[in-house]
Amino acid sequence: MFRNKFFFFTLLLTFAGHWLPAQDYRWQQRVEYVMDVTLDVKTHKMTGTQKLTYYNNSKDTLRKVYYHLYFNAFQPGSMMDVRSRNISDPDGRVKDRIFKLKDDEIGYQHIQSLKQDGKDTQYKVNGTVLEVTLPKALLPGAKTVFDMKFESQVPLQVRRSGRNNREGVAYSMTQWYPKLAEYDFQGWHAYQYVAREFHGVWGDFDVKITLDPTFVIAGTGKLKNADKVGYGYEEPGTTVKRPAGDLTWNFVAKNVIDFAWAADPDYLHDRAQVPNGPELHFFYQKNDKILDNWKKMEGFAIRHFEHMNKTFGKYPYDSYSIIQGGDGGMEYPMCTLILGEGSLGGLVGVMLHEAAHSWYQGVLASNESLYPWMDEGFTDFSSQESEAVLLNTSLAEAHAGSYNAYFSLIKKGLQEPISQHSDHYNTNTAYSTASYAMGTVFLHQLKYIIGEENFYKGMRLYFNTWKFRHPEPNDFIRVMEKVSGLQLKWYMSYWVNTTKKIDYSIKTVLENGGTFVTLERMGEFPMPVDLVVTFKDGSKQLYYIPLNETMGGKPDEKVIPRKDLEVWPWVNPTYTLKIDRPAAEIASLEIDPSQRLADVDRKNNTADLSNGLKAYSNIIR
Ligand SMILES: [Zn+2]
Repeated sequence: MFRNKFFFFTLLLTFAGHWLPAQDYRWQQRVEYVMDVTLDVKTHKMTGTQKLTYYNNSKDTLRKVYYHLYFNAFQPGSMMDVRSRNISDPDGRVKDRIFKLKDDEIGYQHIQSLKQDGKDTQYKVNGTVLEVTLPKALLPGAKTVFDMKFESQVPLQVRRSGRNNREGVAYSMTQWYPKLAEYDFQGWHAYQYVAREFHGVWGDFDVKITLDPTFVIAGTGKLKNADKVGYGYEEPGTTVKRPAGDLTWNFVAKNVIDFAWAADPDYLHDRAQVPNGPELHFFYQKNDKILDNWKKMEGFAIRHFEHMNKTFGKYPYDSYSIIQGGDGGMEYPMCTLILGEGSLGGLVGVMLHEAAHSWYQGVLASNESLYPWMDEGFTDFSSQESEAVLLNTSLAEAHAGSYNAYFSLIKKGLQEPISQHSDHYNTNTAYSTASYAMGTVFLHQLKYIIGEENFYKGMRLYFNTWKFRHPEPNDFIRVMEKVSGLQLKWYMSYWVNTTKKIDYSIKTVLENGGTFVTLERMGEFPMPVDLVVTFKDGSKQLYYIPLNETMGGKPDEKVIPRKDLEVWPWVNPTYTLKIDRPAAEIASLEIDPSQRLADVDRKNNTADLSNGLKAYSNIIR
């Protein structure tokens, strides 16, 4: 039957490529760190060894690898310093403080040796990036072991990491070790550190830290030798046998993208259990001024984890630590460092935000540098909703501040597309509004497009589908498409890649055997439209106009009785609908009464017909 056996074999090979699963390119690298460091609390110098097993799961042969050396940013003339002294709206915490650091206050990471599988590597340091040429190419599917010796000086705390923060916390040890950069289907992500976002490789950490025994350490992961350390880590009732001399703490963390810690001799340590969730640890200084607030925060933290677990997916680790330190609030896997001396409201607000990062930075771990809106925005969105639930305030208004920040950015003329790399925004204002506020609005507006039920189902499905996998924007919107049955890429493309605006208006209201309302799309950004008609008898009717681009509509959200209308083709500037009641019976009309549309001019969204139609006939706008 077959002309020859090779023909069939060739045919198989030809088609084999097409039969590969579509997501085959989504391999991810893996790391296993074993570190042993000693910190001298008098000189603030740290020496250490790092054994890093690196698994190349890519299809590429790697001849180089890159590490981040973040402490090097805290030196006069570093890119972070120069950037801060040249940007028009510098971060008040940084300004020219790096420029003014003295030799014994700067940070550095000196690599003393680096071997790959026992052979010396060639390496060079360029600012905060270490470029390593491998003596032996790392083949696809192979693993290799890097052995490094390093010496660091912990900088005076300027931004995030460092010693002696403004509340007197001794060490905020974040971005503190030579950290391998991520390599993925987009290549290396070895960005110079200019104070913004991060990215990391999934893996395991086994970290031994030796220091003065009067210091208490808090950080990522679980303390393995709690019975030798104590300080509230031991099982209740255990007798702690602390050895003489400096104390070694051994933390392990599995399946995380980073490891952070903090140390202070004055830390108190409280523990609290989240029902069906992690054990929470609180570390804060013995200080009568803050004790009460930290105790009160514990209840909020427990309820926050319960709400997040139920609404956005289950936190997968068995512990989480809230640690006084740093310079505001900063998220790390399984822990956060936050300032501790503010008001209860401020403290709780920061804690809610940082803990919510566990879902987006800690577990989904999208590339924050490329897509800060998927981390900061989604985090702000969920923590704002959690806060509304915890404080029993209006959920509908939970995101009003984010909308206002977006509108204000436009008014200032500073808006830039949010698709760009976080380091490269012209101003801190544009970066922070794009990441936090516009990321939040992106989600709340998506809720408007696909309906509330689909939205929350989609958020949980996204978390469960993409946890531990570094999702990309398209991965998110595909989940939302699948859950809603709608086409949504147009929405993400407009919101993320452009600075186009949404502006719908009520153009005319005319009577001619019924009431004819003409709506106009004044902005370049098309959207489906909710129009609510309030009648003089007090009843309301929602007219729902789907956008043709979505290829369908959202389910009835059952807030106001709804009538479904024909689609609005996105190219059409206007749309006319008929209301089957005389205009005399209508009190008012309103586009988007839920205020979820980021409509830049809400004044033209309403029409008050209580004085007749005159004002809305033949209007030339
Ligand atoms: Zn954040």
